[in-house]
Amino acid sequence: GIARAERQGRYRLGVMGGTFDPIHHGHLVAASEVASKFALDEVVFVPTGVPWQKRNRQVSLAEDRYLMTVIATASNPRFSVSRVDIDRPGDTYTVDTLKDLRAERGAQTDLFFITGADALRQILTWRGADELFNLAHFVGVTRPGVPLTQSDLAHLPEGGVTLLEVPALAISSTTCRERVRAQHPIWYLVPDGIVQYIAKRGLYPAAETGVPDDS
Ligand code: ATP
Ligand code: MG
Repeated sequence: GIARAERQGRYRLGVMGGTFDPIHHGHLVAASEVASKFALDEVVFVPTGVPWQKRNRQVSLAEDRYLMTVIATASNPRFSVSRVDIDRPGDTYTVDTLKDLRAERGAQTDLFFITGADALRQILTWRGADELFNLAHFVGVTRPGVPLTQSDLAHLPEGGVTLLEVPALAISSTTCRERVRAQHPIWYLVPDGIVQYIAKRGLYPAAETGVPDDS
C-alpha cells in the first residue's frame, strides 16, 4: 500500500458511476480491485439520474436503483453511495458528478473515476470531456467482450487514464434484467439481497402476453 507520508494527508476517493439497474458483481469486483490497486480510502457508488445514453429504454426508478446500490455495498466499510446524481435535476453528466463530489469532499480529496472499457471508449463524446481529466484520474477497467488496448487511449491526455485488468466477470445489468424477465435465476450474478429486492419490488416483469397485434 501507499505509505501515509506519501499520501501527504490527501484522501483518495474512488468514484463508480453507473445506472446500476441492477448493481451486480461485475461492478463490485471492479470497485474492489481498483480500491486495492490504487490504495483508495473509499469508493463512492453514484447511481445516475436520467441516463441520457439510455433514453431509448425504460430505466427503473432512481430510488430503486439507489436502494439496490445501498444494499449491495452495505457490508463493505470502504464502500458508500452518493445521491448527487439522482438529486440533481435533469440529465446526468460525469463532469457535474465530479464537481459536486469535489465541492462536497473538499480540496484535500483526490478523485479516481472508475469506468469499464465500454464506457471509457465513449469518453471523448461526453460533455466537458476536456475538463474531466482535470477533475479526476481515470481508471479504465477491463470488461469481457470489450477489447481495450493502450492504443485506444492514444487520443486521451497523457497520464490521465490508467488501464487496469480486473478479474473477468461476464455479467451485465442487461443480462440480469433479461434473465429476470425470462424467469431464469440471477443468484450469484448479483448479491443475495439484490435477488430478494428485485423479487419483493417486482422489478423487470415479464413482457405482457396480450393478444397479438395481427390477430
Ligand atoms: P447495462 O447493461 O444496463 O448497460 P452495465 O452492466 O453496463 O448495465 P452500468 O451501470 O451501465 O452496468 O455500468 C456502470 C459501470 O460499470 C460502467 O463503467 C461499466 O463499464 C462498468 N461495468 C459494468 N459491468 C462490468 C463488468 N462486468 N466488468 C467491468 N466493468 C463493468
Ligand atoms: Mg452499461
